[in-house]
Amino acid sequence: MTKLLKILALLLVITTVVFAAGCAEQGEAGAEEAAAEEMPTYYVGTEAQFPPFEIVNAEGNVIGFDVDLMNAIAEDQGFKVIYQDQDFSGLIPALQTGNIDIIASGMTITEEREGQVDFSEPYINAGLALAVAVGNEDIQSVDDLQGKTVAVQTGSTGFFKAEELKEAGIVANIKDFPHVNEAISEIEIGGADAMINDLPVTNAFIAAKPGVIKIVGEPLNSEAYGFAVREGNTELLEKINTGLQNVRDSGKYDELLVDLPNYMEDE
Ligand code: GLN
Repeated sequence: MTKLLKILALLLVITTVVFAAGCAEQGEAGAEEAAAEEMPTYYVGTEAQFPPFEIVNAEGNVIGFDVDLMNAIAEDQGFKVIYQDQDFSGLIPALQTGNIDIIASGMTITEEREGQVDFSEPYINAGLALAVAVGNEDIQSVDDLQGKTVAVQTGSTGFFKAEELKEAGIVANIKDFPHVNEAISEIEIGGADAMINDLPVTNAFIAAKPGVIKIVGEPLNSEAYGFAVREGNTELLEKINTGLQNVRDSGKYDELLVDLPNYMEDE
């Protein structure tokens, strides 16, 4: 073999090796893409004006604790999620009709809802709190709601608590709104005397806009939030519960908890 031929042969070998390596790499990327394409996609319904659990950021994306937690579960379990922002009171019907597959919306696990959807294991605790205008010194607890008007979010546990207080002859009127901030505005304009809503959420609104309302008295109860799926959708429920446990075990859950107050500042 002449020297030139040897060089040409060597070049050919090098080119072949480089080409083969390139193909292998492409093959891997291709496989990853294919796996991502095969991943099931689930539609997640949420009422995204409920900080720090779900809020829409300046870019129009839904962010918050529920979103981060659900994303971590989805990553762990190999599924994709698409968030759909809608009114809270429409979430269970949307789940039942198949418009969404999962509810991730600070939804309290209640006996009544247990009859309509299947809940995951509880993922965080909250509770209801009473709030009034900052200058209001008359209302210190639910006992002071005699003859008063209470603002709540439609279909929320705060709404059901207000109904209970009305049936008990304490609360006189209930004004319900699709979003918590509208209930707060109602107090601000003097259209309602108090609001009953989830404590961490009311706190987040107060942190974002101080000087409008304040929390009075002790929390009214203790509630646990769960993700919901359609009744009988055990396959998805198992994925969510396993993912939730893995996210807890890996320490990721605790990291997200630490981030909780930051969502309020983002508001
Ligand atoms: N935790 C309350 C409920 O489940 C409120 C939830 C919400 O408004 N996003 O009713």
